[in-house]
Amino acid sequence: ATLYKVHAWGGPYFAVNSSGNITVQPHGSETLSHQEIDLLKVVKKASDPKSCGGLGLQLPLIVRFSDVLKNRLKSLQFAFDSAIHSLGFQSHYQGVYPVKCNQDRFVVEDIVSFGSSFRFGLESGSKPELLLAMSSLCKGSPEAFLVCNGFKDSEYISLALLGRKLELNTVIVLEQEEELDLVIEISNKLCIRPVIGLRAKLRTKHGGHFGSTSGEKGKFGLTTTQILKVVKKLEQVGMLDCLQLLHFHIGSQIPSTTLLADGVREAAQIYCELACLGAQMRVIDIGGGLGIDYDGSKSMESDISVGYSLEEYAAAVVQAVQYVCDRRSVKHPVICSESGRAIVSHHSVLIFEAMAASAYAAPTFSTLGLQCLVEGLSEEARADYQNLSAVTMRGEYETYVLYTDQFKQRCVEQFKQGTLGMEQLAAIDGLCDLIGKSIGTNDPVQTYHINLSVFTSIPDFWGIEQMFPIAPIHRLDEKPTARGILSDLTCDSDGKIDKFIGGESSLPLHELKGGHGSGGYYLGMFLGGAYQEALGGVHNLFGGPSVVHVLQRDGPHGFAVTHAAPGPSCGDVLRVVQHEPEIMFQTLKHRAEEFGDDDGNSVVNTAALATCLAHSFNKMPYLVASSCGLNAI
Ligand code: PLP
Repeated sequence: ATLYKVHAWGGPYFAVNSSGNITVQPHGSETLSHQEIDLLKVVKKASDPKSCGGLGLQLPLIVRFSDVLKNRLKSLQFAFDSAIHSLGFQSHYQGVYPVKCNQDRFVVEDIVSFGSSFRFGLESGSKPELLLAMSSLCKGSPEAFLVCNGFKDSEYISLALLGRKLELNTVIVLEQEEELDLVIEISNKLCIRPVIGLRAKLRTKHGGHFGSTSGEKGKFGLTTTQILKVVKKLEQVGMLDCLQLLHFHIGSQIPSTTLLADGVREAAQIYCELACLGAQMRVIDIGGGLGIDYDGSKSMESDISVGYSLEEYAAAVVQAVQYVCDRRSVKHPVICSESGRAIVSHHSVLIFEAMAASAYAAPTFSTLGLQCLVEGLSEEARADYQNLSAVTMRGEYETYVLYTDQFKQRCVEQFKQGTLGMEQLAAIDGLCDLIGKSIGTNDPVQTYHINLSVFTSIPDFWGIEQMFPIAPIHRLDEKPTARGILSDLTCDSDGKIDKFIGGESSLPLHELKGGHGSGGYYLGMFLGGAYQEALGGVHNLFGGPSVVHVLQRDGPHGFAVTHAAPGPSCGDVLRVVQHEPEIMFQTLKHRAEEFGDDDGNSVVNTAALATCLAHSFNKMPYLVASSCGLNAI
């Protein structure tokens, strides 16, 4: 289990039990009185056929733990409450969840429900997000903020204003100077007084991968000159009292509290200036950026780790705001944050199955004699072969690699010219493998074929090479005897995972027990609850995974499945790209009627053909394991 560093990235939610299975403590360190949940049992419950009391869902599978979401929210609130209390800050913390991180209905509803006692709200960045945030917050605290970010047109602004009529606490945050004219015009037309915020383009720059939105040349926000123009215009139209919130976002995964405090201090100065200019400032919204330690290294040097805890993050923010406001004698504001990654990353686990491994073939040497083989080579290739033999005798690994590449390349050239046959080329590969084995360099890395689409389920790995912890969810009491890279189902060479946390280019893995396609070896991708589902596309028309929601319960299993949903069928994904599965089915059915074999003897008669076709539209696009591996466990 230590190989996968579960203790480093998993705490306090994930651990390994004495049976070698990954377990979940969904209440984190509050867990003591509850039993842990064995992930393998959840997979078994979700995927066993209905007849066995299971749900019969197909893998890949997302397992959501609502209790983890609740614990993340509580921990964030508690961290700010503690900092506020211990520093004597004269206002409160009231966060919002940016729905873009994971727009799943149940995730958003859970956050609104768990967060309503501490006035937790939502952030939207587009019209559909605003619609879903508005309807979800109808069940939230009436004071909860609904922060409206993103580029806005008149429809977006009208909708946000109508939200105020519905007693929702919408705040229109200006991202561009031009949006102000629309806000003034539409609010006058609708006779609705807006609450306005503005997003400042800070000079503080986050240098990591996620910081490209920050700094003077960042994509979003208003410069100081533009902020002053907004103030002037609002004053002219008698609406300066509507300006109440200052927002900034310097990027995701802020690496250190030093950088964070720097940004917050700069924003707090702007906040105080606005208050002094006559705006009714009430809220400082520090955006997202609270990071996740994906590799457990607690390092501020890496994009996938951060060098602070939740408590240190909250203390740095409160201290920075307090320091600036006290010096400027400005009343302490409500502190709002838009933490997305930090709230939802831990709550879901993506489970997928390895269906086969490309077995490492023991090197074989051809029946062709060595002498005969060498004689067929060009002079240069023969010289390479002699050099290769010499460095092998001397055990010089680096030079061995160099000569092997050169030797093989020359032989391929000869093959292309037709002076070397296929049997000889294969014999040369075998010869190199044998020599490699003698020098101890054979590459033992196998390719594990996984029932997943990287593009759909781990898009950040493909797009920005972000790594997530990946580990088998069982057999962790067995020493893995192989190393592997993971190759997905798509017909795309980028559809593979060959970089792992800790800088490894392969993952320690166990030998597969069944034959090709039998499945039964389950891997989990952890901490991927933020952005991955929202960004995933339909490359090769693989849709999303099946989903189950799990709540901790006392009892023999220690959990209950509260919702279960199969992933999209082939028909569903075809609809996404504007096909009409019903019409497609009718076309194929007519063709079956036209060409089908209805003489009564055929196994696949017209009716059976139509049934098979209908079935294909209704099934998920992923592979079905040929033997139910779970039954064997
Ligand atoms: N707020 C804004 C304006 C953002 O652009 C983002 C993400 O990029 C967030 C909040 C969420 O950031 P994070 O997931 O780092 O908390």
